[in-house]
Amino acid sequence: METIRLTTNESDIRRAGEIIRSGGLVAFPTETVYGLGADALNAGAVSSVYRAKGRPSDNPMIVHIAYVAALGDLIKGGLDSLGGDARRLIGELWPGPLTLIFPKADAVPDVTTGGLDTVAVRMPSNATARALIREAERPVAAPSANLSGRPSPTTAMDVLEDMDGRIDAVIMGGMCDVGIESTVLDMTGEVPVILRPGMLSKEYLSDILGKDVLYDASLLEIPGETADPAMGTADTLFRPKSPGMKYKHYSPKADVIVIRGSSERFRSRAKELGLEAMKDGRRAAVIDYGDDPDKAAHRFFADLRELDRQGYDLILIRSMEQKGKGFGVMNRILKSAGYDVE
Ligand code: AMP
Ligand code: MG
Repeated sequence: METIRLTTNESDIRRAGEIIRSGGLVAFPTETVYGLGADALNAGAVSSVYRAKGRPSDNPMIVHIAYVAALGDLIKGGLDSLGGDARRLIGELWPGPLTLIFPKADAVPDVTTGGLDTVAVRMPSNATARALIREAERPVAAPSANLSGRPSPTTAMDVLEDMDGRIDAVIMGGMCDVGIESTVLDMTGEVPVILRPGMLSKEYLSDILGKDVLYDASLLEIPGETADPAMGTADTLFRPKSPGMKYKHYSPKADVIVIRGSSERFRSRAKELGLEAMKDGRRAAVIDYGDDPDKAAHRFFADLRELDRQGYDLILIRSMEQKGKGFGVMNRILKSAGYDVE
């Protein structure tokens, strides 16, 4: 199929809304990463998202809405069922990069939630995303608009690299502000639990609620080992060379190695590894975002894709502290490296 390039002007967004209403797929910018949108209540449309991405069908989608009222139709018991914590988070942080998980309403097809009886919902702040959802006149299921396993796309060019010819249209917006995906927070238990870390950090969410939000235990595990959940700093969570291909996500074509320690240690170790690689005829690129998690989040996926385009074989990247926003950024960096850390 030919993938139509759309602008962010009104008539193009209206057209994108029509495509979604008629069961088609449209990639669109959000403040986190580009999403691949389909009518969340149309099981056939959602199935074609899984196909276009090559995504395993048990990996559920996030449903995107433009008004809080739309949440009521997606969750069991409607808006009246929301507890105090959910109301507070919605009031303070929507629209924004926060996904909340609730028991699902019957109207949400099983294919949208990967067979789960819960549904993940987010209200994006990006103006184009909101206009598209309004034009579609229904909730929009949207995973990241990349082939499964590849780095998430943060520019329209990155979307086309993976999806040209596989989807009906892409809205050619600018580069995404945040750059990594939303924080996913499970609201179905006594205490909110972070299932996927993002730029709205554990510490920040805990502050807003006046109580401790928890990390899901799996986020504190390094493949093959278990870290002390009370910790969470680079030194305690890093373990040398833990392979585990099955943990590999956000993978560029190049190999990625994470190097911990000071800027000085990073520079000298990166130089050694770069020279070794050169002897084998391989080209190494070096990334150091300093201690700036916002910059790292904004650039990381785009940099991986750009270095792939330039044909690098090895990417050496400096770690940052796994605290606050750095926890979300390091989650992506470690996965892209398949936990290859030294
Ligand atoms: P992506 O669409 O690529 O941003 O990925 C969506 C993320 O949300 C995945 O990590 C999903 O596993 C997670 N997710 C979506 N719905 C649910 C749910 N009902 N329960 C738990 N995780 C979910
Ligand atoms: Mg994704």
